[in-house]
Amino acid sequence: MKILVLNSGSSSVKFQLRNSGCEELICKGLIERIGEKGGAVHIKFPDGRQHDEELDLEDHIKALDYLLKVLVKPELDILGSLSEIDAVGHRVVHGGESYSKSVLLNDEALKTIDELSGLAPLHNPPNLKGILACREILPNAPQVGVFDTAFHQTMPQSSFMYAIPRELYDKFGVRRYGFHGTSHSFIHTRARKLSGLDDKPSKIATAHLGNGCSIAAVLNGEVLDTSMGFTPLEGLVMGTRPGDIDPALISFLVEKGYELSEIMKLLQKKSGLLGLSNGLSNDMRTLLEKSERDKNARLAFEVFCYRLKKYIGAYAAALGGLDVLVFSGGIGEGSAVVRNETCRGLEFLGIEIDEEKNNDGSGKEALISKDSSNVKVYVIPTNEELMIAKETELIVGDIQNSQ
Ligand code: ADP
Repeated sequence: MKILVLNSGSSSVKFQLRNSGCEELICKGLIERIGEKGGAVHIKFPDGRQHDEELDLEDHIKALDYLLKVLVKPELDILGSLSEIDAVGHRVVHGGESYSKSVLLNDEALKTIDELSGLAPLHNPPNLKGILACREILPNAPQVGVFDTAFHQTMPQSSFMYAIPRELYDKFGVRRYGFHGTSHSFIHTRARKLSGLDDKPSKIATAHLGNGCSIAAVLNGEVLDTSMGFTPLEGLVMGTRPGDIDPALISFLVEKGYELSEIMKLLQKKSGLLGLSNGLSNDMRTLLEKSERDKNARLAFEVFCYRLKKYIGAYAAALGGLDVLVFSGGIGEGSAVVRNETCRGLEFLGIEIDEEKNNDGSGKEALISKDSSNVKVYVIPTNEELMIAKETELIVGDIQNSQ
């Protein structure tokens, strides 16, 4: 089965084309500057080849139409015809309380995703644009929605309710939803397999540390808690977002003369590692390079690791112990220093990092804890697109079997 995976943003669409049990990547790439001047399609192949084309792309339909025309160009030898695309899997950010699993995107599902736009105004509308465009261009390929929030829907009320007036939940759905669910689900499944806890009781904490960062506590395969909340601002320190803060800070800044829109920009785009490093960088690599000479870069690194350490402790308490801890995402996969600093002092929880394995464990699947460690600590590269492709194949397969 050939599956096209799409992650549609407001002005760009990331894509992957996968084959045979989804494991084979045929090509991947990016359509950028949709609705702006200088539109472009970039395609990368697993053997390192790259193909780039430029054309102004008015909207998502024009952009996807153009991409598909490029994918069937005979000289690129990707697809003989569009009918070879068996299904399309879409990343959808918010499934609210409606979706705890991936779904076939029929009219009813599209209506629900549209209704949920109020909870994710920056994400669901462009996701929907990508879905509608695909429906028009590939009317015979089933479309599947894979939600960032779905894996976290097992959280009990005691984890997901904020201690604010109940009517805000009843009227507006104000609660903690959690995000990065596709990644947490992927690395949790791998961790359970690697640690031999596939079909056994398990207490697993998965840390996805990219530009956005979150950690999940997963008990026997079901999410018990996760650090992102009503929006992806809550929880860990991130590239440009602060994670947990005192909400009274907002009214304080309003009193100081800041506009609400300015404050939200400050919290979305100027905080986190970037804010702590006094504007130096939101990129952990840069901060680590400069941390010996620049005290703000060092501080950003320290606050990042300290917050993560606190969450690991909290989740070990919530789970009643820990069997496995996983590091993933660009920082989790790439930085031995972050993994080491985060786990330093957690020996009392049974977490013992093996320095050599940790230093050698970046960028690939690796066990980085000592043999004596009660908690197995892994680096597991995440692969959200592979997960979306697999979910899509599963749902389309179920439909075909039931026909
Ligand atoms: P996204 O969330 O956009 O998918 P990534 O998962 O690629 O982002 O993570 C980006 C972050 O990972 C950046 O802060 C980057 O500096 C960091 N990163 C990538 N490689 C390394 C590395 N080798 N060491 C430290 N940080 C790294």
